[in-house]
Amino acid sequence: MTLDDCRALDHADPLRELRDLFTLPEGVIYLDGNSLGVMPTATPARVAEVVAQEWGNGLIRSWNTASWIDMPQRLGNKLARLIGAAPDEVMCTDSTSINLYKVLFAAMSQAIDSGDAQRRTIVSERSNFPTDLYIAESLCRERGFTLKLVDSVEAIPAALTPDVAVLMLTHVNYRTGAMHDMAALTAAAHAAGALTVWDLAHSAGAVPVKLNESNADFAIGCGYKYLNGGPGAPAFVWVNTRHASRFEQPLSGWFGHAAPFEFTPHYRPAPGVARYLCGTQPIISLSALECGIDTLLATEPFNADLGPMSALRSKSLALTDAFIALVEARCPGRFTLVTPRDHDQRGSQVCLAMADAAEAQGNAAYAIVQALIARGVIGDFRAGDAQTPHILRFGFTPLYLSFEDVWHSVEHLVQVLEKEEWRRPEFNQKNAVT
Ligand SMILES: *Cc1c(COP(=O)(O)O)cnc(C)c1O
Repeated sequence: MTLDDCRALDHADPLRELRDLFTLPEGVIYLDGNSLGVMPTATPARVAEVVAQEWGNGLIRSWNTASWIDMPQRLGNKLARLIGAAPDEVMCTDSTSINLYKVLFAAMSQAIDSGDAQRRTIVSERSNFPTDLYIAESLCRERGFTLKLVDSVEAIPAALTPDVAVLMLTHVNYRTGAMHDMAALTAAAHAAGALTVWDLAHSAGAVPVKLNESNADFAIGCGYKYLNGGPGAPAFVWVNTRHASRFEQPLSGWFGHAAPFEFTPHYRPAPGVARYLCGTQPIISLSALECGIDTLLATEPFNADLGPMSALRSKSLALTDAFIALVEARCPGRFTLVTPRDHDQRGSQVCLAMADAAEAQGNAAYAIVQALIARGVIGDFRAGDAQTPHILRFGFTPLYLSFEDVWHSVEHLVQVLEKEEWRRPEFNQKNAVT
């Protein structure tokens, strides 16, 4: 694949003009939209309007006149179109960690309410994102459950024994980019009498998700990654309608009350997913998140009749295929591919580990990422441990990345290796945030 081939792919790319929806700094190729999405061009003006007009002039009236009160639901309805959910099943609110606490508690309650005192286990993966495991540990401690961690996807079916109440998984693994089969694992959990909780942090806005079609039970996800909602953007929560009015969530704040403005002394949960709200919503942050979600909805006209997220998905796979092919052709023997080659098992990122055993244990992966960042190619590094290698992680966001960007990022990688730039001391100093 040559630079001209990449330019030809860009020429034929139906999504290429969507790059104009974003403001990217000059000279940067941004391969970290899986960690913090880029800023939509519409966001600064929209946030300024919310601050100056809706807050500054409207003041408290804006809860009604600017429909602030409906924002978690309005944004949730837009997002539902990207994750295979129906209207009024999704709320944009709080953080991923907090939403996980709420839905995991609710899912555990089914086992407690069933009267089956043996069903007190949560199954997850050791490689799951740490906050998910920490929240599960805390709830297990509080409610007398056990957290059982498996070391591979193949081990999940055998782990679904009759004591399992909840299977809690992240759909696309943050370190490897490997994607689970949501429908198959949900069916396996249900056959074992367990419910499923899916974390969509690396899926929403990145890959097609079919929550209802997969018959999933609960899901949560992140607003600041592929949804481009800005740093610390509100997250989201989805609950299957068959559960939404059945369980109470533990953070029973007044925004989840059936009638918050009656100011009654006792909690009465709102019907449906509205009960998963807790307190007063961050309106300015929600307005930035809406701009981010709108950038993804701008791909809808390109889906033809191939279904939600199909245009974005086919470009995402083409970008990651091109990156893998170029790295393997131009840096032979230097890296091993950590991300699955199989399209059905790949998210929207490519992760590499050093092929050389000594380099894999050492500083090379971190230092190469730092040297690339100094050249304007921004990816990130995720630390390994005794079992898992250190990883160079590259996220591919089809909304604003071109095939030419892919070509240039691999060219920079080749230069960093050939010139041994990564050995410089300044690229071997660890920062607080990697
Ligand atoms: C990014 C990420 C989170 C982040 O949670 P916060 O509450 O926003 O800090 C949670 N889970 C997964 C799987 C993630 O990738």
